[in-house]
Amino acid sequence: MKNIGEEYAKRLTAAIRNKRIKMALERAIASYRKNVEEELARFPHTLQLAEEVRMIKEASISKMEELVKQAMDSIKDLKGEAYLAKTENEARRIIGELAGSGRTIVKSKSLTSEEVGLREYLEELGNKVYETDLGELIIQFLGIKPTHLINPSIHVPREDVAELLTRVTGKVVPPEISREVEVVRQLLREKFVEADIGISGANVVAAETGSLVVIENEGNARLSTGFPPIHIAIVGVEKVVQTFSEAMKVAEVTWRYATGRTPSYVNIISGPSKTADIEKTVTYGVHGPKEFHVVFLDNGRFEAAENPLFREALYCLRCGACLYECPVFALTAGEFGEKYFGGIGAVWTAIISGGITGNLEGLASAALVGYTCLTCGRCKVKCPVKIDIPNMIIELRKVAVEKFT
Ligand code: SF4
Repeated sequence: MKNIGEEYAKRLTAAIRNKRIKMALERAIASYRKNVEEELARFPHTLQLAEEVRMIKEASISKMEELVKQAMDSIKDLKGEAYLAKTENEARRIIGELAGSGRTIVKSKSLTSEEVGLREYLEELGNKVYETDLGELIIQFLGIKPTHLINPSIHVPREDVAELLTRVTGKVVPPEISREVEVVRQLLREKFVEADIGISGANVVAAETGSLVVIENEGNARLSTGFPPIHIAIVGVEKVVQTFSEAMKVAEVTWRYATGRTPSYVNIISGPSKTADIEKTVTYGVHGPKEFHVVFLDNGRFEAAENPLFREALYCLRCGACLYECPVFALTAGEFGEKYFGGIGAVWTAIISGGITGNLEGLASAALVGYTCLTCGRCKVKCPVKIDIPNMIIELRKVAVEKFT
């Protein structure tokens, strides 16, 4: 096994010494905490709703296989196509076959797509892929990995963004956030119109109706999923809940803890675009996509659902609240993790790499992140669904000690 520990330690040390990362994180953490505090005071029912969401997630994960099947049937009833990918390779293959090559693809933020390395794969096939979330676009231009579940470029300050956009556009962009946003708006406008395919994830899926819920602020997910003739979504199987009203509850708690502010857009997508305006005959592909494909990704999740030690990780809403409280994340950003970050990221690394089911390399990667965690428990206090991350970290360490000593 290669010495992944040395490489990981180097990355952590470099992040800790990087003053720009520290500056960007201090700004972002202060702003996040203020926003969420204000919004929780404004919407005090959220705490009770979060308790209900915990119960919804417990029930959904306990019958995940049944719910995913129901969601796939509902999507097919809506004239969409649904697929179940066992592994990340399978997910890439399915989407690669749908996309082909030589296409222009606009992609909205999706951690599940990051998990399978989708953008890089589609580019290898000869497609032009544009990340359309501003943070993801910064990450794409910089050629680095995201560092937060919700804010992928949280560690990049405005000064660095200005330098980057100046380089990309060939025109001087000042370090003013409003100017930077305007430059990106102009840059991506034509890509939405040109695109053959739009790719998204989903925050939650309602099995009964086959509806995908995509929460966003920028409007890029709306354009990516509503403008191109083909929409492909990639969604972890743990995102499926039974009913539409449960999905709405999950969505509200997710957005309140993700950014604090009510999102500008909550997209609900139930099949391809359609009309029955002429003779009441349903015809597909009016202004929005004619084709709608949903790829559900397992990649260790079904096995995790059967594992009493780590099942709780599947309740994660990916709101990122735990990261804003984490003292290690405040110093190291996304270097404290692999594809997923922080304490919860250690457990997710073990799940998706097969680390909890015997893959030693996966377990080693997860253990490194797990041993970086201080198990201080601040994450559990802030987590809306009260996931006991410190306890799972201790269990993960026990598994690692058993296997490696
Ligand atoms: S562990 Fe909790 S706080 Fe952290 S991302 Fe998941 S749901 Fe949010």
